[in-house]
Amino acid sequence: MVFKEDYSLKPYNTFGIDVNARYYLELTTTEQIQEFVNRHFPEYDNIVILGEGSNILFTRDYDGIVLRLNNKGIQLVRENKDHFYLKANAGEVWDDLVNYCIGHQYAGLENLSLIPGLVGASPMQNIGAYGVELKDHFEELEAINLENGQIELFNKSDCVFGYRDSVFKKDKKGKYIILSVTFRLDKLPVFKTKYGVIEQELKEMGVLSLSIEKVNEAVCRIRRKKLPDPKYLGNAGSFFKNPVVTRDIYEELINIFPGLVAFRQANDSYKLAAAWLVEQCGWKGKRIGNTGVYEHQSLVLVNHGSATGQQILELSMKIQETVHNKFGIHLEREINVI
Ligand SMILES: Cc1cc2nc3c(=O)[nH]c(=O)nc-3n(C[C@H](O)[C@H](O)[C@H](O)COP(=O)(O)OP(=O)(O)OC[C@H]3O[C@@H](n4cnc5c(N)ncnc54)[C@H](O)[C@@H]3O)c2cc1C
Repeated sequence: MVFKEDYSLKPYNTFGIDVNARYYLELTTTEQIQEFVNRHFPEYDNIVILGEGSNILFTRDYDGIVLRLNNKGIQLVRENKDHFYLKANAGEVWDDLVNYCIGHQYAGLENLSLIPGLVGASPMQNIGAYGVELKDHFEELEAINLENGQIELFNKSDCVFGYRDSVFKKDKKGKYIILSVTFRLDKLPVFKTKYGVIEQELKEMGVLSLSIEKVNEAVCRIRRKKLPDPKYLGNAGSFFKNPVVTRDIYEELINIFPGLVAFRQANDSYKLAAAWLVEQCGWKGKRIGNTGVYEHQSLVLVNHGSATGQQILELSMKIQETVHNKFGIHLEREINVI
């Protein structure tokens, strides 16, 4: 257990924002977390759960408790003819879990490598990349109810997963601490290589026969080329979600903007590429003071040095405004603002 007062969160958020937590607490076992909740639940509004801070923008000092879970552990809980069921505690690093699966030939998460963060945060926004989402391999999770200290089990439908969304970002926002997640992994891999440039990357790598390792390597190579490493340039990945619109709106837009980048969804709606919308408004690579838009990916807002969270938030609002003025589309934030 680690406890600090008036503690800088700069090393604990990938934007590198220098704010202080009134109290900072790190807990390493489920028992410690339960004990903490039982003592504090009357004032749970004053608690922020922190993973690796890769999907958070701190805009002010936090006058409460910042709780970081460090409960580690990965365990094979059962298997059947087709699947392995693997339970990972919330404090495991997501990419370590992906590598563990690859090492054991448990298939399914190989497209989700190099996503920063901890396992406990992964269901929050149903993390996804390159045609795979967490929900595709999710079995269940355990979470502690901050209102009464009880541990509850959530199955897939309880979590109401959507595109970068779950019940934990909506009705149950701030009401649960996710303690562990159980994944359903395939014994026989079903490779997803159609999305983005995976096939092209595999070709460049000279891969003739697919394996979990090779698909994973292709994804890692693509990500390293495309995304800034927060160690060198503060960022939180995609700042905005890709907006989903009706067919009517899509048709209206494509008539005016023939270059519009959009993907048809199963229910006849269209997902617009938010990066394209932002780029068309002239933001790509633009810098305002210490804040900016990444030169290779306009969905990524960056901290060029000592930007404050408030300055990054202001930049994001300017972007939202210009996109709305040009396209009539509201860009929803993907990241959590505190
Ligand atoms: C370079 C970069 C690339 C990225 N690429 C992707 C990508 O491809 N796909 C994608 O989906 N995301 C991506 N992200 C976003 C981010 O990595 C994910 O959202 C990740 O799951 C956040 O994990 P975290 O541990 O850092 O969570 P944090 O940022 O610490 O927290 C995120 C939210 O979850 C809550 N939370 C955290 N842990 C718990 C818990 N145990 N119980 C309850 N609530 C909790 C926090 O309070 C907060 O609201 C990227 C980020 C970066 C910096």
